[in-house]
Amino acid sequence: MTTDDLLANLNPSQHAAVSSFADTLAILAGPGSGKTHTLTSRTAWLLAQGLQPWNVIVATFTVKAAREMKERIGKLIGNGLESKLILGTFHSIARRYLTRYGHMIGIQKDFGIADSADSLAIIKRIVKRHDFTIDPKVARSRISGRKAKGNGYNDEGSGVSSKGPKKSVEAQEFECCYNEYEAALQRSNLLDYDDLLLRCVDLLRKYPSCVSNVEAVLIDEFQDTNVVQFDLMRLFASQRKRITIVGDPDQSIYGFRAAEIKNYKRMLHQYPDTVTIALEENYRSSGAILLAALSVIEQDSSRVEKSLMPTHTVGTRPVLRKLSNAHQEAEWIVTEIQRCMGMTGDLLDLNDIAILLRSASLSRHIESALGKAGIPYRMVGGLRFYDRVEVKTILDYLRVINQPDNNDALSRVINTPSRRIGEATIRALLEEADQSKITLWSLILGAVQGRGATKTKLAKLTEKGISEFVNIILTARKKISDLENPISTVELIKFICKQTDYENWLKDHHADVHGARWDNVQELITQAGDFQDLVAAGYEDESLPEIDGLEQGEESGHLSRFLANVALASEVKHDEDGGPGTAQITISTIHAAKGLEWPVVFIPATYQGSIPHSRSEDSNEERRLLYVAMTRAKALLYMSIPLKNSQGEETTLSPFLSPPSLAPLLDQRGPSLQSSTIQSISQILRRPLPSAESISKSAADLYSMEDDLFPVGGEDIDMDNESRYSTNWNPSYTRGQKPAKRQKIE
Ligand code: ATP
Ligand code: MG
Repeated sequence: MTTDDLLANLNPSQHAAVSSFADTLAILAGPGSGKTHTLTSRTAWLLAQGLQPWNVIVATFTVKAAREMKERIGKLIGNGLESKLILGTFHSIARRYLTRYGHMIGIQKDFGIADSADSLAIIKRIVKRHDFTIDPKVARSRISGRKAKGNGYNDEGSGVSSKGPKKSVEAQEFECCYNEYEAALQRSNLLDYDDLLLRCVDLLRKYPSCVSNVEAVLIDEFQDTNVVQFDLMRLFASQRKRITIVGDPDQSIYGFRAAEIKNYKRMLHQYPDTVTIALEENYRSSGAILLAALSVIEQDSSRVEKSLMPTHTVGTRPVLRKLSNAHQEAEWIVTEIQRCMGMTGDLLDLNDIAILLRSASLSRHIESALGKAGIPYRMVGGLRFYDRVEVKTILDYLRVINQPDNNDALSRVINTPSRRIGEATIRALLEEADQSKITLWSLILGAVQGRGATKTKLAKLTEKGISEFVNIILTARKKISDLENPISTVELIKFICKQTDYENWLKDHHADVHGARWDNVQELITQAGDFQDLVAAGYEDESLPEIDGLEQGEESGHLSRFLANVALASEVKHDEDGGPGTAQITISTIHAAKGLEWPVVFIPATYQGSIPHSRSEDSNEERRLLYVAMTRAKALLYMSIPLKNSQGEETTLSPFLSPPSLAPLLDQRGPSLQSSTIQSISQILRRPLPSAESISKSAADLYSMEDDLFPVGGEDIDMDNESRYSTNWNPSYTRGQKPAKRQKIE
């Protein structure tokens, strides 16, 4: 593709941003305005200007976003060199540098990554061992704050709640937790998420030459970077201060993880020549959806207003539907999905639909209703596939095989399946290992091989069990280190399943659901295979350019890389390109849906306590979260509220949706999906109208005529014609003015 082609389909502001010669460039704009598209095009443009991909760093927020971006750049440049970019999440880029150069700051080869669940497990063990009263989650976040502080980030700057514990008992407990946690990580050769970033900052401060090759740094979703990530960005760009950031302060939703809206001000302070460009056209959503979403975000009077106009001026009004309880709400969602699929025929498939949840715990009813209706779905975000017990067990085996010093993984699988090694024995062995300052693996290996007798008295059968376990691990380790013919991760998982007779164990222990659990194990095997293919195709290239005078560490092996990929993934990769046979709807947390888009979006549970969440202290952040969720939708947006929550308590509508001015912008029943609606969907998605034979006539009968409609705000709505109304964008609409008029378009 020539540079002209690259720039051809951009609007004038996007064009200016992509081809800007400014060294530091900030693109601040609303959702769906093409920020990511512009960043991707700018990366391709920089390469077309002669920059080498291995000298360009592109940081995105999720693993999925990173993959998509790489693909999009690939399409733009068309020579396969996108795989050579240093592109990924901040954590994965940091891991890459630490793998290569970590030895210079004393990081051991083949370190593992403790994800947040691992960190919590370690802290819980410490708390339990000492019978402490401190809440492990509180301890975890304080530890995180302390680490940031130790690296020169003060409390205020890190944003992490690290205020010194007030009571002295608590202070002592925290001190002990901190020290033991750090020691446990070190013994198990693990780095936690904080370490990945902080140690990388440490590395680049001491050895800036590691990034002496870097010519340009590009960051997506800048509004959600924290101070440490901001510094990493500066360090990456220390050689040649060429930085492009894109972001939207209205979509800042990671304040609870210390993301800093202030980073933009820091940017202007550090780089006073920054050129800021705004993008003002929304290409994603219908005018009707955008209007409702803007009416939500504009309730925040402290925000800086920006202009955002829809390019799709017509559309169907978003739905806000009342149901009697969470169960009925789930049933309604399923019926609407069936109706929508039936009436839009081959215009839409299941991949086009997403259900976005404020918290993962809301998924139960929805999963069960979808399951009953036989609608396939994939779970994303906080609903992690990798946390499922059967998957976690196999992953723990892999982690132990890769790095037997990982005490936590080892203690979780040593007795799975049962080897007659009881909880108490495992605890005693762990204690003994901790006290002798060795790892559990060294201890049991010594015991099995007759060296250094353990003090813990082991029963004969227990000893036999431990020895069986040790043998599996040793055999597997031999297989991975066989230089001539190293075993693939897929084969290794099969080996573990065979040695542990895992399928039968699942049958015995989870008789009712063993099928689904075994399917998950198969899915893990598929994912390991996919990852292997990507690596073989050079698509997961991890190499960093050689730099004179710096000794590169060895590349990590396949297994290590697969495990790092899992630890850093915030979601499941699951038939994402799914053809017609494999189409699935997506269930995701709102947080994990950032930057993504779907033709049809459902947002259930829009009640006070869910959004805004009862545990959240920042109501503006909660509003932004609803705004992010609403602006994921392209053509149809369904919101709903059960009148009773899962605990049977009465609910009240989210205050973000209550203002009377919103009422006329919302439909209380659901779109009729008559021909005009279908036309507008096809227009917005730029897809052909559905073929007549693909439309199911009976789907129309699913339209619910019940009259338990929810009186939002004050306006009286003409119910007879309600579903046939669409909102036309009224360009004169600005804050404070009357919202757009409804117009009949049929
Ligand atoms: P978010 O804030 O949600 O991350 P964004 O600003 O990054 O949104 P993109 O995801 O880049 O927006 O773009 C939204 C949609 O608009 C995408 O489908 C993209 O392909 C499309 N788009 C962007 N720019 C244009 C354009 N100039 N012409 C047509 N479509 C465009
Ligand atoms: Mg984006």
